[in-house]
Amino acid sequence: MKVINMQKIKSFVFPALGVLCLGAALTWVFCFTSLGWFWTISWRGYTELTDGVYVNEDFQHSKQDVLKVLEEAEKRVENFWGKLTGKPTIIISDDEKDLCQMGWTGNPALTTTVVFFGAHNYVLISPDGFNVDVAAHELTHAELHRRLYQGRIFSFSQSVPLWFDEGVALQNDWREIYDLEACSAAAEMEATPDLDALETPEQFYVSDPQIRHNNYVASKQEVSGWILEHGMEGFIRLIDQIRIEGDFRSAYYDETW
Ligand SMILES: [Zn+2]
Repeated sequence: MKVINMQKIKSFVFPALGVLCLGAALTWVFCFTSLGWFWTISWRGYTELTDGVYVNEDFQHSKQDVLKVLEEAEKRVENFWGKLTGKPTIIISDDEKDLCQMGWTGNPALTTTVVFFGAHNYVLISPDGFNVDVAAHELTHAELHRRLYQGRIFSFSQSVPLWFDEGVALQNDWREIYDLEACSAAAEMEATPDLDALETPEQFYVSDPQIRHNNYVASKQEVSGWILEHGMEGFIRLIDQIRIEGDFRSAYYDETW
């Protein structure tokens, strides 16, 4: 009579199942998530123009044009922050299918931050966002996130409200449409939006373009006002305080600044 050794079977089947599940999970991450795309961008026909800057094959602009735009944007962001604490991975693409795979939803550009043993930023730029203002806007988001989350092992929540994140990024985005003075829609901003009600993406990026635009303009104004009052040194200290204490409101509205 043949005796089936269950112990032996278990010791083979369970590890095999584990490896299979891990393999399936990794395949899913690499093939179907934006993060997987960012991590494997150089295997997907993208060329690294310079350290951490990738463009798709046959990108509509020359290497010189791309580097010129990024150089100018970086200079602007550096003038604002002082020395930058790190460089994000930058992916520029005019392939709509690829852009969608990387989380693009039609906006000119976007910054994705992963907090895992520090902040890792991925800036994705579409053809509409290929200009100094949009690049500087995204690089400012990236630098802010890096400063806010450096030293964290991991985090799934944002430590500042979205209006602040956008307000900071807009300090280096000089498009006239976001300037209250130059903004032709200023008259339509009947009431300044309540910033406390603009903390999450759902609250901030509303579908009504006029309201969304007002949210951007008001956020930019609010952050410029804070910096004007407290200076850039105060602003850098503010970011440090938020990072250390983790409480945006008590830091931002601290009257002892
Ligand atoms: Zn932004």
